[in-house]
Amino acid sequence: MSVAERPMVEADRVCKNFGSLQVLKGITLQVGRGEVLCLIGPSGSGKSTFLRCVNHLEVVNAGRLYVDGDLIGYRERGDKLHEMSPKDAAKQRRDIGMVFQHFNLFPHRTALENVIEAPTQVKKQSKADATERARSLLDRVGLVDKADTYPAQLSGGQQQRVAIARALAMEPKLMLFDEPTSALDPELVGEVLSVMRELAASGMTMVVVTHEMGFAREVADQLAFMDGGVVVEKGDPREVLANPQHERTQGFLSKLL
Ligand code: ADP
Ligand code: MG
Repeated sequence: MSVAERPMVEADRVCKNFGSLQVLKGITLQVGRGEVLCLIGPSGSGKSTFLRCVNHLEVVNAGRLYVDGDLIGYRERGDKLHEMSPKDAAKQRRDIGMVFQHFNLFPHRTALENVIEAPTQVKKQSKADATERARSLLDRVGLVDKADTYPAQLSGGQQQRVAIARALAMEPKLMLFDEPTSALDPELVGEVLSVMRELAASGMTMVVVTHEMGFAREVADQLAFMDGGVVVEKGDPREVLANPQHERTQGFLSKLL
């Protein structure tokens, strides 16, 4: 299979443990190019750990994880695997954007300065080019008028939209979202979801950990329910939500309603 035909994300029996604690027990998932996968499941089921493995914040212990056909975290030599150098890992990570629950903006930089930071520092774009692009990204998330505002003067929803613009500034081929609306007041959730919805419509490949079932139902191509470090059930979100096959999925969903 050529790289272009392979899914954007392929997880093949991915395992991760912290000492004796086995957190991921063989996760097998695929996300096609331009697809949105929503990951749901109870706290502690391993959702964040899975995203962190995809984004090089953790190294998997067994199984294989590929993004865009590249093995994450390891080099294959013959049939042996060698852990990747930090430099190579950093290179792979550049193409993956991540948005966290707690926006993690630089507090002493304006919205615009937050967005141009990585393109100028990592990609060595000129400040003028990066600024022009940042303004169009801030416009895309509806915040061009807040370019010179510091994070503390922005609402949580606005900060999260800046965080999305900041991730997009690196022109990622994959975007990971870890409960992007969980820290927001309810009235601010919609503005962030609508930016994510537009991003999905633009063709971005996305993996989204969320408790927003309406978003999952309408936007996701695939929904996976994780519990205890395994994918218990996955499929078309409308089907999984309306007619969960597994008792654990039924139990989880009934508590959300
Ligand atoms: P979720 O995002 O689904 O709530 P996590 O992936 O954050 O779950 O965590 C899964 C399990 O792994 C939890 O039991 C958590 O305590 C544990 N865990 C996560 N990160 C670490 C770590 N760095 N060291 C030890 N245990 C961890
Ligand atoms: Mg989590």
